[in-house]
Amino acid sequence: MQNHITKILLVEDNSGDAYLIREALHTTRNLNFELTQADNLSETLRILSKHEIDIVLLDLSLPDSSGFSTFSHVHSHATQIPIIVLTGSDDDELAARTMQSGAQDYLIKGTFTEDLLARSIRYSIERHNLLIEMEKARLHEQHLAYHDVLTSLPNRLLFYDRLEQALIHAKRYSGMLGVLFLDLDGFKQINDTKGHSHGDRLLQIVAQRLKKNVRESDTIARLGGDEFIILLKGITTIDDVFKVGMKVLEVTPKPLLLDNESINITCSIGASIFPCDGDTTEDLIKKADFAMYKAKSLGKNTFHLYNSEVDKKNSKRQSLENKLRHAIESDHLLLYFQPQVSLRTGEISGLEALVRWDDPELGLILPSEFIPLAEETGLILPLGEWVLKSACTQNKIWQTAGYKQLPISINLSARQFREISIVQTIHNALQEVELEPKFLKIEITETHVMQDVDYTISTLEILREMGIHVALDDFGTGYSSLNYLKRLPIDQLKIDKSFINDIPENLHDATILTAISTMAQTLGIKVVAEGVENESQLHFLQSIECDTIQGYYFSRPLPTHELLKLIDSEKKLILNQPKEEIVVV
Ligand code: C2E
Ligand code: MG
Ligand code: MG
Repeated sequence: MQNHITKILLVEDNSGDAYLIREALHTTRNLNFELTQADNLSETLRILSKHEIDIVLLDLSLPDSSGFSTFSHVHSHATQIPIIVLTGSDDDELAARTMQSGAQDYLIKGTFTEDLLARSIRYSIERHNLLIEMEKARLHEQHLAYHDVLTSLPNRLLFYDRLEQALIHAKRYSGMLGVLFLDLDGFKQINDTKGHSHGDRLLQIVAQRLKKNVRESDTIARLGGDEFIILLKGITTIDDVFKVGMKVLEVTPKPLLLDNESINITCSIGASIFPCDGDTTEDLIKKADFAMYKAKSLGKNTFHLYNSEVDKKNSKRQSLENKLRHAIESDHLLLYFQPQVSLRTGEISGLEALVRWDDPELGLILPSEFIPLAEETGLILPLGEWVLKSACTQNKIWQTAGYKQLPISINLSARQFREISIVQTIHNALQEVELEPKFLKIEITETHVMQDVDYTISTLEILREMGIHVALDDFGTGYSSLNYLKRLPIDQLKIDKSFINDIPENLHDATILTAISTMAQTLGIKVVAEGVENESQLHFLQSIECDTIQGYYFSRPLPTHELLKLIDSEKKLILNQPKEEIVVV
């Protein structure tokens, strides 16, 4: 106290009283102070908000405020600053009321000595500081009671309380809530092998990642061990819960660095939803926990919803995904080949490789049933690579065996095409079997183009420079823009089957086809018609000078041995003159 300069604000409008207090302060020993003075309330509040003040000596009767109201204004403006109230001799009651409301002391003007004033100032400051410390300790204790020491996240107690409150609100306003139960995969092993301090650090990092990826209004708590729980408020659909779950699944496994060692940790998440899965705290947590165990049993790093309807759909999807993954790894995929026939020569001018899944239990499965799933789950990447390699290998085998050399087309999914390494992957596949690039054609769809035109153009240009041919598949089904077509480096346009179905009767389609064919010829792009099933379609296509056809009329997609039989039979479209007289032999 000796060396510290006590900053005193004296609030007194009576100049005589102010003088006496100033004098008393100056004559006190053991009090180093700096004095600021105000003579009305508004000036007092201004000083308090601008300057650092240690204590206020406050006269309650001011020109712009009087009595208890003066105290309450000053106190509410500066709760952290001790106040000594200066009153008249007949103001005992008022003085007591201010003390009850937070004043540290009161002095009756004209009666106190300088020593009493100094002591009052000192004790008031000390008492006030003590009260602040006690409040801090109380808050800290409260925090400890409701938070996890390691991660500072809310603990089980606080989570239960928040969920309880959220349930009351959701029931009253017909809202929806989600509870995600999260358990780290393989945490025990890391804890056991790397030590507890590693384990603790890992839990802290996971807690931070979780915090960053949910909204502030949501609550993330640590239940203990490696278990976390998240309360999602303000959701409106089951899909919202699904999205958060998937997002958390994505962010958790990013490698984390512990003592310069990179560790990958994944988690399993189970979720329950109010109102469909339960309407009490215990029920929702129990079901989310149950769903989490299901997620673990489904192979970890998985999100699982308790809800039985969704549950069924999910587990069917999950088991299909697992089966497909297994099929890719264990060679249960097959390539069928569909011939493409030149309308100039009537001969097979190329083959399209079309993937099939030969499941030991389910039999032959068509791409429409598994390509969308493969795209969603990322399995399209290994699947696509398998198709690429198998098509190149098969082509080389046929060439080496002396069959007619034909280009084989493969379908590239949008996701596969977006892979930075796609050019390298294709290059490697060709090199591995020493196949000339001109015998590989890639088919992309309009969706690829629309996603990022510049990327598509530059990638296609590189591939074409390598000597690979490019076809735009399913033309007409997307958002075809003739403008893009002009810019796209492609060799072929494959007109979608839906335009071929009803020609030549459907004049609308016939007109579109004629226009497309004329335009393609102008741009130097060849036209392939997909899904040609009958003679009249063929006649029409020949009349508009379409280059190539593909369809059941000539041949369905065939497994290798049947395709070879077809090639051996030298089947061809006999193109009589005039073009209308075309027959299949
Ligand atoms: P797509 O590339 O347009 O392939 C043509 C589809 O039309 C094939 O169906 C083929 O069997 C069918 N088709 C051909 N001619 C006719 C016909 O005259 N009538 C009828 N009704 N259909 C005909 P598929 O094999 O079921 O393949 C469907 C789609 O799956 C393909 O359409 C392609 O988008 C995708 N797909 C097939 N294999 C692969 C692959 O290896 N990778 C990727 N990413 N997608 C593939
Ligand atoms: Mg295709
Ligand atoms: Mg197509």
